[in-house]
Amino acid sequence: MLHQKILEDARSQSNWIVNIRRQLHRFPELMYEEIKTSKLVRETLDELDISYESGIAETGVVATLGSGDAPCIALRADMDALPIQEETDIPFRSEIDGRMHACGHDCHTAMLLGAAKLLKERESALPGTVRLIFQPAEEGGAGGKRMCNAGVLENPRVEQIFGLHVWPPLPTGTVGSRRGTFLAAAGEVTITIHGKGGHAAQPHVCIDPVVAAAKVVTELQSIISRNLDPLDSGVISITAIHGGEAYNVIPESVQMSGTIRALTMNRLDWLQDRVKSMAAQVAAANDCEATIEFPGNVYPPTVNNAAVWNTVQGIAGELLGPDAVHEVPPVMGGEDFAFYTEQVPGCFVGLGIRNVESGCTHNVHHPLFKVDEDALPIGSALHTCFAIETLQELAGG
Ligand SMILES: [Zn+2]
Ligand SMILES: [Zn+2]
Repeated sequence: MLHQKILEDARSQSNWIVNIRRQLHRFPELMYEEIKTSKLVRETLDELDISYESGIAETGVVATLGSGDAPCIALRADMDALPIQEETDIPFRSEIDGRMHACGHDCHTAMLLGAAKLLKERESALPGTVRLIFQPAEEGGAGGKRMCNAGVLENPRVEQIFGLHVWPPLPTGTVGSRRGTFLAAAGEVTITIHGKGGHAAQPHVCIDPVVAAAKVVTELQSIISRNLDPLDSGVISITAIHGGEAYNVIPESVQMSGTIRALTMNRLDWLQDRVKSMAAQVAAANDCEATIEFPGNVYPPTVNNAAVWNTVQGIAGELLGPDAVHEVPPVMGGEDFAFYTEQVPGCFVGLGIRNVESGCTHNVHHPLFKVDEDALPIGSALHTCFAIETLQELAGG
C-alpha cells in the first residue's frame, strides 16, 4: 500500500521530473565537464531544501536526507553524456553539436531528483540516512571510483546501494536484473603495428604493417573461439583502425584500438595476456613489431548482492506486478556502478523504457536512442521505495 502511494505521488509529479530531464537532455556535457548539469542538480536540491556537498570528483554532488545517523543507504545516478550527434526528432533534442545523452544519464539524474522530492516529503519518517550520489564520468572516466575514493560511502557507512539504468530491451513498466554478476569487467586495448614504409609498388623492400594488422585483427578472434572455454564469456572487439594516408604508400605503422570484456577480473586479466601475446607473435611472424597497451580505466564486473536483489524484486513486484520483474542474463556492457558494489552490497537494475508506438526502440549509445518518459516516475518511485524499505529493515522496524 505504502509503495503504491509513492508511485501515485511520483506519477502526479511526472511533469516536474520530465521537465528536469528535458533541460538536461538539451545541454549534454561530457565526463568531468558536467558543469551546468551539476548546477541544475544543486539548484533543484536548494529548491527542495535538501543539504548537499558539491565539487566531489570535479562535478559530483552528494545530498543527504534523514537523521544523518546509521543506518545509511545510498541511491546513485550518473550525469555525463556521450560524444554522439543526436539524430532523433524529439523537440528537446541536444542543442550541443556532437553531444548527446545517448545513455539516458539525463533520465538517471532526473529520476534521482524525483526521488529526492518524494523522500523530502517523508523525511521525518526516515529511520536513518539516505545519501543521493550524483556522479560524473560514468562513460569511461571511472567517476564512481573517484566518488568512492572521496569517501561518499563513509560517515555514516553506506550499508546498501541501489542504482537504475534505462534498459531499452525491456518495455516501460518492467524492470530486469539478476543476482550475482550482471555486467562485465571491461577495458580498452590499443595496438600499434610498426613496419617499414615505402612505395606501394615495392612491397618487397618495405615491411607492410597493414597486412600484419589485418592478420592481428583476425587472429585475435581465435582467442575467443579457440582459447576461451565455450561455456565462459568474453569479448574482444577491435573497433578502430588507422594507418596510411595515400593509396600508393605503404605506411610506417598502423594504430588500432578496441575493447576487451569478461565476467570476472581474472578472466579479463587472462584475455589481456592472450591479446598481448597473440598480437606480438602475429606481428613478429610478419616481421613487424607490436606495441600493446591497456590505457584508461578498467571497470570491474557489476556484481549484485542476492539479498538486495531480492528486496528490489519484492518492491518492483508490488509496484508493477509480479510479471513486470525479470531475471535477465548478464550482459557484456560495463558500468562504473561496479566500484560501489566492490565495497558495499548493492543492486543495479535495468528500468524498462521500450515503447514501440513512440519509437523508443533503439539501444543506448545510438544516435536515434529515445526514452519513453512514462518510465521516469516509476524510476523515482523505485528509488524512494528502496530507500524507505531498506532503512526500515536495517533499523529493525
Ligand atoms: Zn553508456
Ligand atoms: Zn549508462
